[in-house]
Amino acid sequence: MKYQSTRGNAPQLRFSDILLGGLASDGGLYVPDAYPRFSTAELAAMRGMSYRELAFTVLSRLIDDIPADDLKRIIDKTYTAQTYRYVTDKENAEDITPLKTLEPGLHVLALSNGPTLAFKDMAMQLLGNLFEYALGRTGGELNILGATSGDTGSAAEYAMRGKRGVRVFMLSPVHGMTRFQQAQMYALQDANIHNLVIRGVFDQCQDIVKAVSNDLDFKTRHHIGAVNSINWARVAAQSVYYFKAYFAATHGNDQEVSFSVPSGNFGNVCAGHIARQMGLPIKQLIVATNENDVLDEFFRTGVYRPRPETKHTSSPSMDISKASNFERFIYDLSGRDAARIRTLWGAIESGGSFDLKTHADANGGNLFERVADYGVVSGSSSHANRIDTIRTVYEVYGTMIDPHTADGLKVGLEYREPGVPLVCMETAQPAKFEDAIREALGIEPERPADLADLEAQPQKKHVMDADAETVKRYIAERT
Ligand SMILES: *Cc1c(COP(=O)(O)O)cnc(C)c1O
Repeated sequence: MKYQSTRGNAPQLRFSDILLGGLASDGGLYVPDAYPRFSTAELAAMRGMSYRELAFTVLSRLIDDIPADDLKRIIDKTYTAQTYRYVTDKENAEDITPLKTLEPGLHVLALSNGPTLAFKDMAMQLLGNLFEYALGRTGGELNILGATSGDTGSAAEYAMRGKRGVRVFMLSPVHGMTRFQQAQMYALQDANIHNLVIRGVFDQCQDIVKAVSNDLDFKTRHHIGAVNSINWARVAAQSVYYFKAYFAATHGNDQEVSFSVPSGNFGNVCAGHIARQMGLPIKQLIVATNENDVLDEFFRTGVYRPRPETKHTSSPSMDISKASNFERFIYDLSGRDAARIRTLWGAIESGGSFDLKTHADANGGNLFERVADYGVVSGSSSHANRIDTIRTVYEVYGTMIDPHTADGLKVGLEYREPGVPLVCMETAQPAKFEDAIREALGIEPERPADLADLEAQPQKKHVMDADAETVKRYIAERT
């Protein structure tokens, strides 16, 4: 299998060539040249598989340049009950992503049992093991540079800690993350993990990462890479749990399932789109946004209009002003028309917007009408909505959910159809967002016992000014 860029002007590459990279050289995103498709008989054979077996069955169709035995070993080492151990209630850790049933036909898929209590561990843990394997084969090294306002940084650090050939330099703002989120990162003592605390806000951290990455000489000399949400391996890894949930929520493969997905960069829901393209009977993919509703506006109106400002909300991991994986979906929607993508994103990159209603498709209609073929719908949620949903779900079902999951449930329920199981993705555990839980329920969320005194543990961090040269100097001295 070859991977091609959504903008059509970059070389076709194999999986291992795009594993460590970010954007394609033409500014596009890599996607498979064609989606592999499971037949009904193959799907039937997958029912009853363990998470590890499913992951190998799905991912070996997308990764064909790593020997099967090696890929299997990497997957088996990643998806263990030991790593995804923070199960709650009566969940079975061996399920890796247990399905919690609130009532018949209404489920929550637990994706946040990994080390950082958010769903990003699902893909990032695999990425860590794939990176170590790929670097081991070439003898290379990689210095991951990133900026985080919450979950991505900690997921990357827990995935890369102690990995041979990899160092992480993670920038975080001095204010803006919860104490729990800060402690999660700063308590890591591993020699290859570097927490750079920037005297500034998240946007300044991001600007520094851009400035350093744009210094191509520095970037090459110091083997600088990224693990951002456009990374294809991350999206691919996430498609596995759609299969796992589908089999857990149905009895036979003639049934369809709908998924509600708390969304920011469109990575999680893009993985659902890929699972659907691979033959999984998904009815609706429900995109749930918070007050940062750029995606909801698109799915309601056909207008994609990234915002100049990001609002700070009580579901902070969905606070984005543009959705970086969205281009992959529009590429498929447009009939894989790279010239069209160049036009559309040309407008976006010069600060504009596009309206798909004004773009004709091959059948005489417009491209926005094609969205219905992909089953994607959307809605948004406010602070009041999520507090209300946390309260209702706790009172009615006795289950505590986090504010992001609450956004997903709120919007998911608006689209629920009789006879179609609805699976709402749980993207974080409530313990990570104590303020919202306190406001909704007046109690503290329970924490896993081994994280009880996280904030009291010694912290390893380097506080510095918001200055790219200072960051470069720090990296150069250690690589
Ligand atoms: C990252 C994140 C999201 C958004 O996921 P995308 O893949 O960016 O759409 C939602 N909830 C939580 C808790 C997250 O960490």
